[in-house]
Amino acid sequence: TSIMSIVSINPTSGEQIKTYDTLTLDDVNRKIEQTHQAWNSWKKSGHAERSRLLTNMAGVLRKHRQPLATLMANEMGKPVIQGLDEIEKCAVCCEYYAANAPAHLADRVIETEASRSYASFQPLGVILAVMPWNFPLWQVFRFLAPALAAGNCGVLKHASNVPGCALAIEQIVNEAGFPEHVFQTLLIGSNLIDKVIENQHIKAVTLTGSNNAGIAVASKAGTFLKRTVLELGGSDAYVVLADADLEHAAETCVGSRLINSGQSCIAAKRFIVEAPVAEAFTQMFLKKMQEKVVGDPLALSTDVGPQARQDLRDELHNQVLKSIEKGASCILGGTVAPGKHAFYPPTILTNVQPGMPAYDEELFGPVASIITAKDEADALRIANDSDFGLGSAVFTSNKEKGENIARNILEAGSSYVNERVKSDPRLPFGGIKNSGYGRELSSFGIHEFVNIKTVYIK
Ligand code: NAP
Repeated sequence: TSIMSIVSINPTSGEQIKTYDTLTLDDVNRKIEQTHQAWNSWKKSGHAERSRLLTNMAGVLRKHRQPLATLMANEMGKPVIQGLDEIEKCAVCCEYYAANAPAHLADRVIETEASRSYASFQPLGVILAVMPWNFPLWQVFRFLAPALAAGNCGVLKHASNVPGCALAIEQIVNEAGFPEHVFQTLLIGSNLIDKVIENQHIKAVTLTGSNNAGIAVASKAGTFLKRTVLELGGSDAYVVLADADLEHAAETCVGSRLINSGQSCIAAKRFIVEAPVAEAFTQMFLKKMQEKVVGDPLALSTDVGPQARQDLRDELHNQVLKSIEKGASCILGGTVAPGKHAFYPPTILTNVQPGMPAYDEELFGPVASIITAKDEADALRIANDSDFGLGSAVFTSNKEKGENIARNILEAGSSYVNERVKSDPRLPFGGIKNSGYGRELSSFGIHEFVNIKTVYIK
């Protein structure tokens, strides 16, 4: 195959940052072979060695936090303050698995009539990670730390707009002292993914991204009987009941909607409010959205940077315009300023109804859809009236009621009461319905890519 190029563009200015040559299929196969060879030794490494290197990696991340945060700001527009938090989270994830993987992976004795029988957890080999640009480091580290801790190796196909981040991650792994080639970045477009999946040394695939990418990759992996974990889109519903602390609910909802300039799979997207408090909630929400500072991601005061790419911004704007055409009211934002940038302003749509993109689809940017519900039952029905099932939250002053709703009623991989949905290395993370399957993080995540091997001694 011929050499193509990947171009990174700064979404704040529209200027090109750098052009990278992509790998040929031969290059790709050679690198996968190298990583497979590295795995033949790495799978025999002990927990002490893996934990030591993961701890080193946390240190390397922290040492380079400033340039890494700047790199993310330049390549995909993440405000630097949020970038620094992201890097700290990656370091904490490495430390979490350094401390906990040995216990997660310890043999589990199961009493039978055997003299001894147990489950042991064996590494699978080289895992392919296909990752999105929105958390360019975190998405990769939440796969990579447990993968390495379990004795697997990895190759990364990162999103095409963050090649600098993709290469930086490879350097971080090397600087931490991991053996050569246990992890490699493949600078390729998605056109070569099928060939990577076909490669005999690739044992499983994890993908975080859109539903279309998930379907394409999982179909191909299925043809070759390779296991997949899919973390896909979301349209998280935050239900605000009439008895909620409205000030706290509005604050939490705005914070969640605007995380990463609105580009998070677990950002709150639909705000479903019981009728008696709908007007009061909307006014508080509006005021807090207006207070957010939109601007240069390199400025420390910035809350909301540009969208990651201009085409994604335009797609978002179309979803807003279509929703307005179908009867939604836009009470904030909803306009695009001229220029080469990818900025989109914090936007609020009210009167959102089924049939509008703002109700039916994922809005991947700083656009809030406020939906008024007749009563509690109606609110919960609307919350579940979605093809997605990633996260959800409910706000109520009755904790018992909140817990019942979170545990038994909301259809999602995570349901929070009076708090926004967050990923945390200690807790499992993932979705149901069109948001994907499988889990990352915690002990559940590390068990996705191991051979749960039964050993039986008569
Ligand atoms: P995307 O366009 O699906 O890209 C994700 C990755 O998949 C990129 O590396 C992309 O490569 C690759 N890809 C795209 N189409 C592909 C195909 N047909 N075959 C193989 N690979 C393909 O998603 P995105 O725009 O980067 O990210 C936004 C989406 O990710 C949103 O829907 C968001 O909700 C979801 N997301 C989910 C989670 C979660 O944990 N559930 C977390 C973050 C984001 P190229 O860049 O080269 O196209």
